[in-house]
Amino acid sequence: KEMNALNPSAAGTWLGVMGGGQLGRMFAHAAQQMGFKVAVLEPSIDCPASHAADYLHCADYTDADALKKMAEQCAAVTTEFENVSARSLALLAENTFVAPSADCVSIAQDRMEEKRFFIDCAAKSGVFPAPHKEIKSDADIDSVPDDLLPGILKTVRMGYDGKGQVRVKTRDELRQAYADMEGAHCVLEKMLPLAYEISVLSARGADGQSVVYPIAENVHRDGILFTTTVPGPHITPESAAKAQAAALAIIEQMGYVGVLCIEFFVLTDGSLVANEMAPRPHNSGHYTIDACVTSQFAQQARAMARLPLGDVRQHSPAAMLNILGDIWFEGDSEKAHEPAWDKVLALPGANLHLYGKNSARRARKMGHVTFIAPTIEEAQENLRKACAILG
Ligand code: ADP
Ligand code: MG
Repeated sequence: KEMNALNPSAAGTWLGVMGGGQLGRMFAHAAQQMGFKVAVLEPSIDCPASHAADYLHCADYTDADALKKMAEQCAAVTTEFENVSARSLALLAENTFVAPSADCVSIAQDRMEEKRFFIDCAAKSGVFPAPHKEIKSDADIDSVPDDLLPGILKTVRMGYDGKGQVRVKTRDELRQAYADMEGAHCVLEKMLPLAYEISVLSARGADGQSVVYPIAENVHRDGILFTTTVPGPHITPESAAKAQAAALAIIEQMGYVGVLCIEFFVLTDGSLVANEMAPRPHNSGHYTIDACVTSQFAQQARAMARLPLGDVRQHSPAAMLNILGDIWFEGDSEKAHEPAWDKVLALPGANLHLYGKNSARRARKMGHVTFIAPTIEEAQENLRKACAILG
């Protein structure tokens, strides 16, 4: 298909997205606002994006027939989850424009490739990944240097929200943890002294132009993002500038098109470490919907449509609270009750986003609420009040 910018007002200019989760839903909202029609490919009918999309290809992510139909329908296709098979993206690319590309997505799907890529970029980005060793066999455990322990054993593929990782103190614990992984390809990372965690959202257009959003400071609980605060309470202007420059160097070297989120650790000595990247809009970038001129989802639509990228300027301090299914349940009770949204919405600057999931489950991402305020302290104060209300 032609590589000119797409025209959102032309009847039937469709953008496609692989995956029907909340990211697909919020992408649909943003792309539709600009006039595009949105198609989603997702096997489950009752997914968050199916109620927002103009069309649902209800099929497995690898269904060749459905991929062909979506590629013929859509002038460009993107992905909302990173574990989509790179082969599916390559198949789509035979008939339409795919952004990010299968090659870029496959780097982000594999922690070893991701680390190798960060190392390849280090001359330009100035940032390295955590010290690590690939673990593919018991013999690899014997040759782990002592100074990688204590560490975190992570599966190379499919890990997210803290899943597929085990913290180990000793070589014996490492041996046991690796045995429990039942042969999965792993990587051991040295446990680093984190001062705080940040993520850097950037976007690059097909014309090579790139933009970087303000630094988001993230707090995780039980491996899942808990809050994002922008501007962050700990980040210094020097670290922020360094992380933004590193993100731009990385997205450039990848030849990436679309929105990319890179997580960095800031260590207690102030140094930056590249942790991982997500080849898509990211949970820590949800604040951009309410607090930036161009949201990460609108940016994704612009990038894939080869339109000019939007202004990344933040117009309000923002504090985002993730809403997990746990708050529907009291203690160990199995009986769900609806949270007090009226009280949350009574707080100043509250922007509630619920994803329309059919049922609440513990640790399931059900929505988020972003507080915007004239100062970051007020936004944080209202977030704390929301936490107290929601329990
Ligand atoms: P996921 O894909 O589940 O997000 P991450 O690699 O980001 O996996 O790890 C989840 C969290 O675990 C991080 O946000 C950080 O808090 C902690 N963590 C991960 N790797 C390290 C490390 N090498 N040292 C210290 N903490 C780490
Ligand atoms: Mg992470």
